[in-house]
Amino acid sequence: MTVFHKIAKGEIPCNKVYEDEFTLAFHDINPKAPIHILVIPKLFATDLQDVDDNTLAHMHKAVKEVARLTGLDKNGYRLISNVGKDGGQEVPYIHFHILGGKKLKWPHLTDEPDPHKSL
Ligand code: 5GP
Repeated sequence: MTVFHKIAKGEIPCNKVYEDEFTLAFHDINPKAPIHILVIPKLFATDLQDVDDNTLAHMHKAVKEVARLTGLDKNGYRLISNVGKDGGQEVPYIHFHILGGKKLKWPHLTDEPDPHKSL
C-alpha cells in the first residue's frame, strides 16, 4: 500500500484541485515548480507500463481539466510520469506531475551546467 492508495481512499488528506469518478488531482507536498500538481487514477496501476488505455484516457482528461482550472493552459506546462528506478519514480502508483507557473528549465537534457550539481 502506497501513500497514493491512502490519498485515493481518502484515508490521508490532500490539497485537492480536481476530482471526478476516475481520477484525483492534488498539490504535490514538495513542489518543484510554482505550480506542481499530481494526477492519480482511482483504479490502481503501478506505472505507465502497467496502466490500461481507458484509465490513461481519464488521466489525460483530468490533466486538461486541471490546466484549465489553474490557468496553466494559457502559458503552458510540463507533464511528467516517472517510470521505475531509472525514471526516478519514488511512489509506485502511477501519477502525472503537472508542473508550471514559470518558464521551466530542462537541466538534465541540455548541455547547460546542472544547477542542482554542486561544483
Ligand atoms: P515520483 O518520484 O514517484 O514520480 O513522485 C512522487 C511525488 O509524490 C513527489 O513529487 C513527492 O513530493 C510527492 N509526494 C510524496 N508523498 C506525498 C504526500 O503524502 N502527499 C502529496 N501531496 N505528495 C506526496
